[in-house]
Amino acid sequence: MAIFEHKSFDAHESVHSFYDLGTGLKAFIAVHSTHLGPSAGGTRLWSYANSDAALRDVLRLSRGMSYKNAMAGLKLGGGKAVVMKPDGDFDRTALFRKFGAYINTVGGAYYTAEDVGMTPDDMRTIRTQTKYVAGLDEGDAASGDPSPVTADGVFRCIKLAADKRGIALKGARVAVQGLGHVGYTVCKLLNAVGAKLVVTDINTDAVKKVCSDFGAKMVTPDEIYAQDVDIFSPCALGAILNPDTVDQLKAKIIAGAANNQLSVPAMGQELQDRGILYCPDYVVNAGGIINIAGEIEGSYSKDWVEEKLQGVEKTLSDIIEQAAKTGRTTDTIADEMARARIGR
Ligand code: NAD
Repeated sequence: MAIFEHKSFDAHESVHSFYDLGTGLKAFIAVHSTHLGPSAGGTRLWSYANSDAALRDVLRLSRGMSYKNAMAGLKLGGGKAVVMKPDGDFDRTALFRKFGAYINTVGGAYYTAEDVGMTPDDMRTIRTQTKYVAGLDEGDAASGDPSPVTADGVFRCIKLAADKRGIALKGARVAVQGLGHVGYTVCKLLNAVGAKLVVTDINTDAVKKVCSDFGAKMVTPDEIYAQDVDIFSPCALGAILNPDTVDQLKAKIIAGAANNQLSVPAMGQELQDRGILYCPDYVVNAGGIINIAGEIEGSYSKDWVEEKLQGVEKTLSDIIEQAAKTGRTTDTIADEMARARIGR
């Protein structure tokens, strides 16, 4: 498990591995860049097949956070943590107390927040051990659950891309993959403007709720890609735009919350060749980190968040226009803009 030779290593400033015999904690924190400020990005709890899979995830996700924070105009670098979910029963409180204590050892170069698999309770447990945590729902500077703001950002980007492609959201057919914290609210916002929803999730209760709340049509997880829709919004996990799925897509626009949607960068070109407008994930899903950044920077207010969200819309609009002018892919243009902003 070499780090510097790892395919996903991208001149990360530091990569930390943590192990605790007592609790069974196995975790990584990766700090990709602190060029713009302390690194920030959520902690993910996931059942990884092995530590190499977890390392790959943390390296990719932390780089994504550098790009996301830079593109959202935040004074934050990029970092991420992954905790490997222990097999069987485990003491969640003890695990996250230990993890919180370990965050201190990174010395303020990394701020954490909630990501997939984590709960507000887990974040409160971490907070008992470290001040380097944001996105809490109580306390002086609390900015609350970031997911609704992420969903708001995703919805704005869907609308902007639809406008650019001359698609009215009223009556537009939208496929949403993943109906968790973000996906549910994306569905709610789309339903409110009259979009027709086709949805999927591996959690059948989540699917039933969206179908009953918003009159959505349910399909199986495998069927979501081939739906005859105008827009596809991936709000589950990464790498879902890959050689197996791109040929199935009928959507003209892709804009969703999931991180690292392209399995490999070449998928950006594959999408463009098929006439699909891909809205780069880390531009689209910055709402949550914007909300959290306000808390870290001590500048949190609804107006500040609104200003930054409008900045996201402007950035996506610039990317789409540049892509149309130059014939280059939206993800290449976004990557270049992000790397310039982080001094790479
Ligand atoms: P979540 O865990 O609440 O929801 C994810 C949902 O996806 C779950 O309902 C899960 O059952 C479903 N899912 C998992 N695998 C699936 C599959 N193969 N097919 C269909 N559904 C599947 O997570 P969330 O907070 O809603 O975040 C969704 C995505 O957006 C994640 O990739 C996350 O990293 C990203 N993201 C979230 C935020 C945020 O503010 N929460 C911010 C930025 C990015």
